[in-house]
Amino acid sequence: MSTDVGPPDGYTDAELARREARDAEVRRLQAAGRCYQCHDQQVAGELLGRETVIATRGPVQVSLAADPRAVGHTIVGWLPHVPDFLALDEAETAVLFNAAREVGLALKAALGCERVYLVTMCDGEHNHLHLQLIPRYAGTPIGSRRLVDPRRPLRDASALTAAVRERLGAAWPA
Ligand SMILES: [Zn+2]
Repeated sequence: MSTDVGPPDGYTDAELARREARDAEVRRLQAAGRCYQCHDQQVAGELLGRETVIATRGPVQVSLAADPRAVGHTIVGWLPHVPDFLALDEAETAVLFNAAREVGLALKAALGCERVYLVTMCDGEHNHLHLQLIPRYAGTPIGSRRLVDPRRPLRDASALTAAVRERLGAAWPA
C-alpha cells in the first residue's frame, strides 16, 4: 500500500481514481483502528483486488503489489499479526523466508528478470509483516534506488499471477 508522497506517474485517470479510492478506504479503516488487510480478506479481495493473489500456503499469502515498482513486484505476506520479522521464531522464519525464496525463483523463471531484491519494512500500527520482492530486469541500473522506484499501475494482473502460479506448482494452492 502506498503512503509515498508525490504525484504518481503513468496512471490513466481511471487507474488513478481507483488507487485514490482504495487508499482513502485504507485510511478510513486505519483511522477506525482496523486492519485493512484482514478487512480485505473478509470482503474477498474487493479492496486490494482478488486477481492480485497468486497463492496461499499456511500462514503465507503471496500477491502482486497493488502499485508495483517493477513488473512482478510481489508481496510475500505473513497472515498472523506480528509487528516485524523479529517477532517470528526460528521455525516461522524458515517458513516465511523459504517461501520468499520459492516465490523469487518462480518470478525469475516466469518473468525473466536478472535479480530479485528483497525488502521488509512493516510500517504502521495495523499492518502485516510482509517481504517485498522487486524484480530487476536487464538494462536496469543496480542499486538501492530500485527499492524506491516510482510506483506504477498494476496491469495484466491475471496473466502475471497465472505465470508465477504455474512456476510455483502444486505445492502452492491458488
Ligand atoms: Zn490484519
